[in-house]
Amino acid sequence: MLTLTFLGVGSAFAKRNLHANALIESWQNGPPAQSEPDDTLLLDFGGTGPLALHQLKAKPGFEYLARGSIVDYNRIRRIFITHQHADHIGGLEELSFMNVFALSGGGGKVFKPQIISSMNILVNLWDTSLKGGMSPMPGRYALLQDYFFILALRSTAGGYEPFQMAKQYEFEIFPTDHIRIERKYDWPSYGVCISDTQTGESVFFSGDTRFDFDSYRERMTAAKMNFHDTQLDDDPAPVHALLSELRTMPDDVKKKTYLYHYGDTWDQPENDFVADEFAGFAKPHHRYVLFE
Ligand SMILES: [Zn+2]
Ligand SMILES: [Zn+2]
Repeated sequence: MLTLTFLGVGSAFAKRNLHANALIESWQNGPPAQSEPDDTLLLDFGGTGPLALHQLKAKPGFEYLARGSIVDYNRIRRIFITHQHADHIGGLEELSFMNVFALSGGGGKVFKPQIISSMNILVNLWDTSLKGGMSPMPGRYALLQDYFFILALRSTAGGYEPFQMAKQYEFEIFPTDHIRIERKYDWPSYGVCISDTQTGESVFFSGDTRFDFDSYRERMTAAKMNFHDTQLDDDPAPVHALLSELRTMPDDVKKKTYLYHYGDTWDQPENDFVADEFAGFAKPHHRYVLFE
């Protein structure tokens, strides 16, 4: 079994919901037979990620994330980074420092999660985002590999090499049209398509992207379930898929698409149609079963 739980479902600037990061869990038997999953993977970990995990560990079924009154970051075994915006990476410094200083048990043995992304994201992640706060250590300068085992996904002729979870589930990343400096795809950002190699079923997770259904049509149509970012208000120069644009997708695709990364006005009456037209707004702290 593979499950997905949003730590938050809000946009970068949302204040009523936390950042749109998700916890993926793989299970041999699934809850409640198991009190904790066999493997864990975060899809991004933004600035509100630590607060989100702090809240989630108090919820039924997520007690394994707690060590006493604090978050047991050792339980987060892997982290996939879609792109470098702070609502997707802003929690990594806390996670790392907690692993190194608070949760290492004093024996010098530090738990290092695996960090996964494309090479260009990983290089920039350290050099232009994390290094300022995470490089200085007492008596030395640290590197990304002092905190993480690094898995850089190789670019191939057909895209990027996939990574696996529990051998059965395959994660294939694809570029998204999020921020254009001069042209499409020139600032790296990714979404992910997750498939169950035993059944052939798949789930689409957009990451941050402008509306680009032409590029995603095949994946979203084939998927049993889609998660797509959205921006509720129209905008002449959007960097996310506008809700008005997502409404133009075919009905059968909309019906299986959950919207996430939304602003604070989601529950205004003008958005009531989302529950009928789409699978709905994604709920925070709800464990979605991706594959049984
Ligand atoms: Zn974002
Ligand atoms: Zn973004």
